[in-house]
Amino acid sequence: MDECLNILIIEDSEDDAKLVVRELLNNDIQLNSQRIQTVNSLHTQLENSTWDVIIADYCVPGLEAPIALETVQQSQLDIPFIVVSGAIGEQVAVEMIKAGAHDYLMKDNLTRLPEAVRREVREAQIRKDRRQAEVILKRQQVAIEAVIDGIAILLNDIYLYANPAYLNLFGYEHSGELLGKSWDSLYSVEEATRFRHEIFPVLEQEQAWQGETIARRKDGSTFVQGVSLSLAENETLIVVCRDISELKQAQPHIAHNALHDPLTNLPNRALLLERLDLAIKKAQRYEDYRYAVLFLDLDRFKVINDSLGHLIGDKLLIGIAQRLKIHLRNTDMVARLGGDEFVILLEESSSEETVIEIVNRIIKECQTPFDFNKQKIFSSVSIGIVLETENYLQAEELLRDADIAMYQAKKDENHAYKIFNKAMYIKAFNRLTLETDLRKALEQGEFVLHYQPIFDLFDNQLMGFEALVRWQHPIHGLISPTQFVPIAEETGLIIPLDGWVIRQACQQVNYWEKKFPRSLSLKVSINLSAKDFRKPSLIQEIDILLTEKKLEGALITIEITESMLMDNLEKTIDVLNQLKSRNIQISIDDFGTGYSSLSYLNRLPIDNLKIDRSFVNQMQADKRDYQIVNTITALSRQLGLVTIAEGIETPRQLSLLKQLDCQLGQGYFFSEPLPADEIENRILYNTF
Ligand code: C2E
Ligand code: MG
Ligand code: MG
Repeated sequence: MDECLNILIIEDSEDDAKLVVRELLNNDIQLNSQRIQTVNSLHTQLENSTWDVIIADYCVPGLEAPIALETVQQSQLDIPFIVVSGAIGEQVAVEMIKAGAHDYLMKDNLTRLPEAVRREVREAQIRKDRRQAEVILKRQQVAIEAVIDGIAILLNDIYLYANPAYLNLFGYEHSGELLGKSWDSLYSVEEATRFRHEIFPVLEQEQAWQGETIARRKDGSTFVQGVSLSLAENETLIVVCRDISELKQAQPHIAHNALHDPLTNLPNRALLLERLDLAIKKAQRYEDYRYAVLFLDLDRFKVINDSLGHLIGDKLLIGIAQRLKIHLRNTDMVARLGGDEFVILLEESSSEETVIEIVNRIIKECQTPFDFNKQKIFSSVSIGIVLETENYLQAEELLRDADIAMYQAKKDENHAYKIFNKAMYIKAFNRLTLETDLRKALEQGEFVLHYQPIFDLFDNQLMGFEALVRWQHPIHGLISPTQFVPIAEETGLIIPLDGWVIRQACQQVNYWEKKFPRSLSLKVSINLSAKDFRKPSLIQEIDILLTEKKLEGALITIEITESMLMDNLEKTIDVLNQLKSRNIQISIDDFGTGYSSLSYLNRLPIDNLKIDRSFVNQMQADKRDYQIVNTITALSRQLGLVTIAEGIETPRQLSLLKQLDCQLGQGYFFSEPLPADEIENRILYNTF
């Protein structure tokens, strides 16, 4: 025995106690011992310490062995109790053992003591382990009784145990009704046969089986049972089961929902992809199999949804879905991808003409107004078509190309559909790379500003510059803003880009003011996009810039286009007023190219009209353009605005503009837009 035993010795003679200890130590039993001889100290020791063995002398005055044993028993502690004594009769020994002592030894023959101690400690440990196991078992029993799954145990095919859930599942009120019955009493003859032929052989081999069976309740009714069988030793079978009838009934419904759009009940993207994959495989196998893919997108759906509400939006989608189905054959499929996007798979579409015919019918059908609660809703669709489908390997690629073609159809005002071709893909791809490149260009500072001087046409005095951004591309060289500004606007990158432009331009003009003190009144014109203008923090950012760089607002002119004004007139006026209160000037750029009426102009707090260069260019050749410029300058005068002509290239254009009393101008005739250092060398040094 390796461990050190705690031994309590009840003994009035110290010498006798020592004898006991020595005997144990001599036999390799490590121990701590404590000698006591009163009832009180026995109580204290039992309460405060743990004891592995008690060795008691029979005759301790006041604490004779029977009293000590009773005290220990009352404490409920299971401590081996060994009696050691001088000469007392066998009768007493038998009585002590009967009373519960574990062993009895003579004082003059202690040789048996070590073995007795070892044995009793061992057995006490076994009793302790067993007690613990019983506790665990009881808890498991409670758990098994409480679980919602049915659990049963069979021995030699006869029910031995069933938990309440099991009884309940099969319609039995108490276990007596089921226990003792054979396993097949819960199954029909056919199902029992299936057990014998299909299930039991697997169970024998694998020791376990899981699956579904039809089970029979006490009243004869049946249900689908999900069951797991495990074989334990000695022909014991453990059954765990539950009623899965409802789950089985719901299964087709769940499968349907997983593959259909809940709003229109059309197949969803997942099902569409499956069908497209099938079509791709079929096309690979059968040479004469043809199919086409149509990508449909409702026009202006967001506007309808936002202005008339989601309820009308939903009704429109359902209505469109119904109309699309009318034009399709059983073999075709229309799916909703989400939002206002639908995809149609036309199978066995023999020729391009047939497809176009169907497409035209769909377009016409979708143009018929919907009538929701006496409210007429007009709608239309744009359709992208993939006709040459034979080389596709992936459904996603088909969708991508149909989407690209749809996008082209959206942009074309005259055609509601477009057939996909490779050039479209290249264009879309270039656009995408351009977008990524733009992002990188911003991070790596690849943009530069050029400045185009603006002059007074009558005294040739330099009035300021227009800042025009360019992209110094590491491979493609200098790229014009007409190529990247529209994409920057679409992707929102215009906001950080123009943020940079404003800072850079202000810094530059501030620098020139210091270097050329006589240039103090020069202004810099900065072009803003609609996105910049609608940004709530615009004014705040300009304020920060002005304070940070200690700049005057009067230094800056903001150029905005006509179309930007009309978007939300009240809001626009508010922003313009805030700019004006910081002495920032406002120019309307490309004036004359927008559709807007001129009547709103007097409501706007603006300073300049810039005549678009297309009119200036054509003034000579086209009387109409001359007339337009005439009207703009006259209107400008009446409203007290300054007119600035763009794109002056020839002396003739200059003199015509002067005739019409246009005050300011810019253009190649004076100077192209130039980098800052060239502006210094060519313009500023000569002027100041
Ligand atoms: P815009 O504001 O109307 O700018 C005038 C355009 O006319 C500039 O083209 C300029 O280079 C060009 N131009 C100037 N003089 C002549 C001339 O005599 N003949 C001809 N044919 N063209 C002349 P650019 O620099 O390509 O800019 C095009 C447009 O890009 C600008 O039109 C403006 O709307 C936009 N843009 C330029 N820089 C920025 C910017 O920093 N931010 C924003 N949001 N847009 C910008
Ligand atoms: Mg401009
Ligand atoms: Mg312009």
